[in-house]
Amino acid sequence: MHTSALVLFSGGQDSTTCLALALSKYERVETVAFDYGQRHIVELEARLNVLREINALFPQWAHKLGEDHLLDLAVLGQVSDTSLTRDVAFKMESSGLPNTFVPGRNLLFLTLAAALAYRRDLQVLVTGVCETDFSGYPDCRDDTIKAMQLALSLGMDKRFLIETPLMWIDKAETWALAQSLGEKSGTPNGGEALVELVIEHTHTCYLGDRVHRHAWGYGCGQCPACELRAKGYDKYRASSRPER
Ligand code: ZN
Repeated sequence: MHTSALVLFSGGQDSTTCLALALSKYERVETVAFDYGQRHIVELEARLNVLREINALFPQWAHKLGEDHLLDLAVLGQVSDTSLTRDVAFKMESSGLPNTFVPGRNLLFLTLAAALAYRRDLQVLVTGVCETDFSGYPDCRDDTIKAMQLALSLGMDKRFLIETPLMWIDKAETWALAQSLGEKSGTPNGGEALVELVIEHTHTCYLGDRVHRHAWGYGCGQCPACELRAKGYDKYRASSRPER
């Protein structure tokens, strides 16, 4: 029986939904993020804002929410050359992957998260990786995650479970999942409250735009991350509108 989890929490829509899921089912939940010279400090600020709002709005989750960890991964800048860490424009490479791709980044994240979970005595790693995502990062695929779960469990001689609640769902279903988790949180109107929290405080835009506010939240509205978030939100609202 698993009772504790470490959530890989970047402050985006996906990892915030994963955090809500972990808080809905585990007794003790901690969060971790990696600072590797992201171009936009807004991502790190979004994390703290989301944690603050969850503590304020969801008291039945707040008492389970433990330490937040920020690990310095500046070394990634020495092995990568991407638009997330350098001031170059976002584009698709000839390989079919976006130039935001850092080879093996998620493998490093999971390894460090497992080491931290080991030390903190947390049993489950929760991550928002997704195969239905447009970008197709190979280190976010289900087979890779399963292989990592085995490698980490063997290599640390401790059984880790890597939970990937978003692996097979699309962005519209991620919004709907947030709503249903909020509804069961014990907070009055918690479904809409959690969706509103995701809209207002999570950050997805590759360009770090916190100026332009849309129905689905802040962002440039043009980059692939914004497009995906906007499309998912529209589909979610279209399917969840109450009958009149
Ligand atoms: Zn954007």
